Amino acid sequence: MHRQHIDLDEAIQILKDTLPLPETEILPLEQAAGRVLAVPLLARVDHPSVDDSAMDGIACKLSDSQRTPVTLKLVGESRAGEGFSGVVNTGECIRIYTGAPVPEGADAICKVEDLQIEGDQVTLLHPARSQDIRHRGSDFRAGQEGLQKGDVLSPARLALCASMGHRTVEVFKKLRVGILSTGDEIIEAGEPLAPGQVYDSNKYGIYAQLLDLGLEPVLLPHAADHPEKVKENLKEAGLDVLLTSGGVSMGNYDIVRDLLFGEGEVRFWKVNLRPGGPALCGLWEGLPVLGLPGNPVSALVVFEVLFKPAVFALLERTDPPHRKVRARASNPFKAVPKKTAYWRAKLVFEDGELQVQDGNAPLSNMLRGLAHANALVVVQPGEAIEAGELAEVLWL
Ligand code: AMP
Ligand code: MG
Repeated sequence: MHRQHIDLDEAIQILKDTLPLPETEILPLEQAAGRVLAVPLLARVDHPSVDDSAMDGIACKLSDSQRTPVTLKLVGESRAGEGFSGVVNTGECIRIYTGAPVPEGADAICKVEDLQIEGDQVTLLHPARSQDIRHRGSDFRAGQEGLQKGDVLSPARLALCASMGHRTVEVFKKLRVGILSTGDEIIEAGEPLAPGQVYDSNKYGIYAQLLDLGLEPVLLPHAADHPEKVKENLKEAGLDVLLTSGGVSMGNYDIVRDLLFGEGEVRFWKVNLRPGGPALCGLWEGLPVLGLPGNPVSALVVFEVLFKPAVFALLERTDPPHRKVRARASNPFKAVPKKTAYWRAKLVFEDGELQVQDGNAPLSNMLRGLAHANALVVVQPGEAIEAGELAEVLWL
């Protein structure tokens, strides 16, 4: 038995349980940017690997350098990549550069701006500082966990992988997600448009959303509203998941619905959500299918608030699927009985606070309003938001 009229959280859970966990692959770092780590990553080395200098200057004994000015004898140098092999004794110093090892005997650095150097005589105008030594392992130690399973490899994290001594990383493979548009009226953009026909906009919107989510979109040929054609397209090899658009509500030609109910297995149909209520989830010949409603706004919202969080949960991503903020409503946002409403809106920073205003796309076919929206205002069932109140907002 499938579930019907369920809350979004339950729908996310069911969809997550329906999606296949992707296999993992080992990639060189340059191919791993933006990917999700499949295992925790431990440091292989200490960082820094030795006590080194944070400054260009001289290294000396702290006890020699607190009463300034003081003149010390220059006995050598330590460069990054080639340290000083001797010992720094009382009354002595060596030239040192950023990242160069601090030699035995030295425990403070005086930066070059505070020095007068004449031959082998170095005068310190200000005291040397022990804080300008970066201690071995002060960033991380060998064996320490630097990154968690589920961490997305941002630029800084990719850099950290390298710094921890990893040349390759184990990440999740990208799920291959098919995009299938249904509807006899739907035609490819650029073709002449007869009255009543609609250009297939969902296909490209969903394509871009999948790329954003780090998955691999696969554009399938359009299916007219005939089960046989849909089946042909579904046979396309190698998909992990199928996203359909259109054909899931109460009409006579809603073939995705008919296909899943007739020959597949429905997991849920209809979510307490506006827009996007008719969303449908199931399996067809083992292939997980999420049926998005045809209206462009509904399709986008269901992708954003249902599909995306399910994928995050599947991969155990450590970052949240949305940036949630509170913003002052510039106008009222209405509530829908028994459904959580997601109204497209514009989020701006004005008068020292975040403000959110209606996205001017009241109907769910209004793509232009959607295209200029950058946020969704969340309105809980029956809890309308008045102008001037604080609203919960997903910042897209
Ligand atoms: P349906 O969910 O099939 O009842 O479609 C609802 C509305 O969305 C209808 O007005 C369709 O013409 C429109 N629609 C369906 N699929 C698409 C699509 N791929 N691109 C743009 N509009 C669509
Ligand atoms: Mg249709």
